[in-house]
Formats: sequence, C-alpha cells, structure tokens
Amino acid sequence: MSTVEERARLVFSLRQSGITDIHIHSVMESIDRADFIDGHFKNRAYEDVPLPIESGQTISAPTIVAKMTQALELNKKCKVLEVGTGSGYQAAILSKLARRVYTIERIKALAKIAEQRISQYNITNIVITAGDGSLGLPHQAPFDRILLTAAAEDAPSTLLAQLKTGGIMVLPVGQSDATQILLRIRKTEDGLDYEELGNVRFVPLLPGKE
Ligand code: SAH
Repeated sequence: MSTVEERARLVFSLRQSGITDIHIHSVMESIDRADFIDGHFKNRAYEDVPLPIESGQTISAPTIVAKMTQALELNKKCKVLEVGTGSGYQAAILSKLARRVYTIERIKALAKIAEQRISQYNITNIVITAGDGSLGLPHQAPFDRILLTAAAEDAPSTLLAQLKTGGIMVLPVGQSDATQILLRIRKTEDGLDYEELGNVRFVPLLPGKE
C-alpha cells in the first residue's frame, strides 16, 4: 500500500500535468498502481514513468493514464471499450468513473493476470476479453467511449463504427518507433471532429491475438 506522502506526490504530479478533475485525483489515489506491477519494478510504482509488465508490455505513466481518462469526459452512464488491457490499471480507473468497462487484450496470459489483479478490488463492472481489440466487440456495440492504449497508424474504422453518435474515442496515432500523437475524436451528427492532445509513446496495436 502506498504512503500518504506517495499519494500526495501523485496528486501533485497530476496537477502539474494539467489534470484538474478532482474525481480523477481521488480515483487514482484509491487504486494502488503497485498492485498492477510485479517483480522488481513494483517499488517504482509511484514514479511518473512507464514500467515493464509481463509479456514484454508496459504500464503507462500515471499522468498519461490520467490524461487519457480526463480526455474521455466520463460519466456514470458511459459504456466504455478499452483496447489493450495490459496490467488492468487503466481499466480499474475507468471502472470507477463509468458504468461498465469492456477491455480487450490480445495476449491471453496478460488478460488472465489483469483479471486476477482486478479481482483484489471490489470491482464488478469490468469485462475482460482475450482477443484482437482492433475488431472491437460487435455484440456489445455501440459504446459511449472507446480508448486505445496501443498506437495505431490511424483510427481503426471498425472501432469508429462501434462508437455512438455523441461519443468520444481517445487513441495514440503514429508509427510505433516514433513519437505519436494522442488524438481525441468526437463523433457528431455531421461527422468526426479531431483534436490533438500532445505527444505520447505507446506500444503498437498489433493485429490478431497471441
Ligand atoms: N492499458 C494498459 C497499458 C497497455 S500496454 C495498462 O493500464 O496497463 C498496451 C497493450 O495493448 C499491451 O498489453 C498489448 O498486448 C495490447 N495490444 C496491442 N495490440 C492489441 C490488439 N489488437 N488487441 C488487444 N490488445 C492489444
């Protein structure tokens, strides 16, 4: 469990990076990032850096998780799709601010570990699926919000089709070995509105499942 000081430092770095939503501060204080990291990187859980997790993947830096969460403009009515479960940390945070979170991970072993981590918390509104998230979840669509935590070269049209009108998609776009841009896409009656939210760096969105 994190100390009071570590939690205060986290909120401080969130504020510094422009995260003003106090609901996001308190949710991020209530979900301990150390519970989503194993091995010798666990003791670095409170540093604002991405860290390695199982299967050669990464857990994003806390301020990036917060930034994407804030960009989604969540409310308790939202049905959310996350592509790239990874550690399960981002999904746990989304679950506290949304009605239901569907999250897809292409690496089965990671999906399983994330499920175990989430079960330590009393969270009942997350559904984890092992599979190719670029196909979305047609049976659960449409979604109010869609978040990709792996970088695509462009917003996948299959996922845009599963976003409600009035909905928001947030995703990193760009080549995997270069700087990527975090994009917010609003789906309106008239089409898609794109907004750039700064530079980020994520692992690539890969086709198929492992
Ligand atoms: N949101 C995560 C961080 C994700 S790292 C967290 O909070 O820890 C990105 C993850 O996306 C990796 O685990 C990777 O395996 C997964 N991924 C990449 N392409 C995918 C795809 N097509 N479908 C589902 N998951 C994918």
